[in-house]
This record gives sequence, structure tokens and C-alpha cells, in this order.
Amino acid sequence: AEAKALGQSVLVFESSMVDSRQYRKRMFDRLSDVLREGGLSLHYQPQIDLRTGELVGAEVLCRWHDAEMGWVPPGQFIRLAEERGLIIELGDWVLRESCRQLHEWDASGTSLPGKLCINISTIQLESRGFAERVLTILAGRDPSGVVFELTETAMMRAPEISIRQMERIRASGFSWAIDDFGTGYSSLAFLTRVHAQFLKIDKSFVSRVPNSRNDETVIRTIVAMAESLGMNVIAEGVETQEQLAFLKSIDCCYAQGYHLGHPLDPVSFKQKWLA
Ligand code: C2E
Ligand code: MG
Ligand code: MG
Ligand code: MG
Repeated sequence: AEAKALGQSVLVFESSMVDSRQYRKRMFDRLSDVLREGGLSLHYQPQIDLRTGELVGAEVLCRWHDAEMGWVPPGQFIRLAEERGLIIELGDWVLRESCRQLHEWDASGTSLPGKLCINISTIQLESRGFAERVLTILAGRDPSGVVFELTETAMMRAPEISIRQMERIRASGFSWAIDDFGTGYSSLAFLTRVHAQFLKIDKSFVSRVPNSRNDETVIRTIVAMAESLGMNVIAEGVETQEQLAFLKSIDCCYAQGYHLGHPLDPVSFKQKWLA
């Protein structure tokens, strides 16, 4: 009981520290500097075709290792960047840097096969000129090799604007994925209007396989629904052999997760997956 009490107090201390105005102010000041000094980096997580075991693409994930604060999780700094108006600059940097990385891999004869998935915040999507900026930054790239991810929750905040902007970008040949699917409140009618090519099943469902019959049913239903709507499913957060076996057994096409491959820095990713 003592250990438990101690554990709880540690947890309370940490989360109140993260939420404190002082900590957030410090994080914001550092983030603004780091963004200008080139202190962010990108990691790449493999995505696998479960039918063949082959690499079909990667998701780009932003990383910040701060000299003073250590590793800051994207869940914290992305949200802060969104709240304080830094997300457009950060998002543009992610687009430019991942595009540069794709060119570098191409030039060294080790192109990324399949598609690169890039997370987009709705604030970016709703910002003036976003479609034009995307097209400018990615000019010269084959758009069929790039997928933009938007979370279901974010999309539902401004569905009409989201649909319009997504449509403009899609018209240029890029595709869309609905991220963290199953955690928001989108309707079937909405799904048929967004024309996203991919649905990413949120890792919270996958993490409860094989212990939860309900979650297995949800996953099975999402896969069947996506198929009948002509969308492809990517299961996220596959951490065990059992989860992998379950997903294969229900004909889920694609997956990512620690069991298949961790997000890696570009050098390690190339060594492990592109060599
Ligand atoms: P997300 O787009 O849903 O990304 C998947 C998250 O799951 C990543 O967390 C990834 O590292 C983690 N993950 C991958 N495999 C596993 C697994 O097997 N088990 C578990 N438990 N986790 C796994 P990460 O890198 O911490 O990113 C968190 C979120 O931050 C992302 O969620 C995304 O919404 C956001 N984010 C990251 N990079 C960017 C970016 O460049 N731009 C924007 N707008 N958002 C980003
Ligand atoms: Mg994502
Ligand atoms: Mg996700
Ligand atoms: Mg997420």
C-alpha cells in the first residue's frame, strides 16, 4: 500500500509538472528556438503488407530531443505547437524535411517502396494557402507515393473545411488516411464523403486483442466496412504475435507496430529496411 501511494504521488507530481504554466512556457520557448535552429528530427516507422510480409511504406514521426529537457513526446509538443501557433511552421518543416529525405534515399538508389505517410494537424489543413504550400513543397514528387494522415477527431471539428481542403489536395493525386479511427464520432455518411483511401485502426483497439472479444469485433467490423467502402485498413500498434495472427486471420491488409518495426532514425531505417 505504501509503494502504491508512493507511485501515485510520483505520477501526480509528473503530470502536474507537465501541465504547469511554467513548464509549458519553458517548453514553448525552447520549441520556438529548436524549430529555428534545426533541432527537431524525423523518425520513420515501417508499414507492412500482412499478406506478403513486405514493406509497403512508412509513417513519419516528429522527434524532439532537447539538450535541457531530454526527449519530449510529440503528444506534448505537437499539442503545444497547435495551441500557440507554431504548428504551421513545424508542419511545413516536416513536409520539407521528409521530402528531402525521400530525395536522398532516391539518389542513393534505395528508394522507399510504397507510400510515405505524413501527419497533418487540422490547424495546418485549415490554414490559408495550405494546399498551395503542400503542392509547392512536394512539387516534382510522384503524389501516389504520399499519404496525408488526419485524425478522425480533428476532422470532425471542422468537417466541411476539412473535406474541401482534402479534396483539393486529393485532386492533385495525393491520398488521405483517417488516423486513430474508432476513437472519434464520425458517421458512416461522413466516411463516404471524405474519400480517404486509408483507415488506420487506433492502437487502443489492437492493444486489447486477444483479451477483449468486443475489441476484436470492432476491428473485424471496421475491416469489413472499409472493404465495402473501397478503403484500405492499416492496423496501428501491433505489439504481439497474437495480435498479428488475429489481424491476418480477418484479412486486415496492412499494419504497423513495435512487433513489426519501431520508428527509426533515417540512417537506421535505411540500414534495416531499404538496404
Ligand atoms: P499517430 O499519428 O497515431 O502515430 C502513432 C503513434 O504510435 C506514434 O507515437 C508511434 O511512435 C506510436 N507507436 C507505433 N507503434 C506502436 C506500438 O506498437 N505500440 C505503441 N504503444 N505505440 C506505437 P508518437 O511518435 O509518440 O506520436 C504521437 C502522435 O503525435 C502521433 O500519433 C501524431 O498524432 C502526432 N505526431 C507525430 N509526429 C507528427 C507530425 O510530424 N505532425 C503532426 N501534426 N503530428 C505528429
Ligand atoms: Mg499518424
Ligand atoms: Mg494513430
Ligand atoms: Mg494518435
